[in-house]
Amino acid sequence: MEITDVRIKLIEGASERLLAFCSITIDGLFVVRDLKIIGSPKGPFVAMPSRKLTSNCHACQFKNSLRAGYCNQCGAKLVDNRLPCDAEGRPRIYADIAHPLNANCRDIIQTSVVHEYNAEILRSQVPGHESRYECIGDEEHRH
Ligand SMILES: [Zn+2]
Repeated sequence: MEITDVRIKLIEGASERLLAFCSITIDGLFVVRDLKIIGSPKGPFVAMPSRKLTSNCHACQFKNSLRAGYCNQCGAKLVDNRLPCDAEGRPRIYADIAHPLNANCRDIIQTSVVHEYNAEILRSQVPGHESRYECIGDEEHRH
């Protein structure tokens, strides 16, 4: 597997842990968007695209956040045995939409993304720089 393109959208004045959004192209054929670059003491860390898990209210079937104590639509008290847990027994609030299946693949993604993230920081210091992140799918129109 080869990462043939990486596009970075830096978060302006990132003070939170979220430093940037990013997309990757795999083998020139398959694009995955909404990866996140997260700041950590060990350096930037790439998080896979994920969605927030929800659970349906037993009374009205409204989809509530897993952390909600009461239904946001009908106010019913939500039962507390809804949280699926990860291998360490911590409740899972998010589920990955796309993710690598082994450490080697994760390293390939992490290395390409962090390399491009650092390059994008340098490019962003040039006046008039625009992120390519939003241009995906527009290739035909730009040539
Ligand atoms: Zn409800």
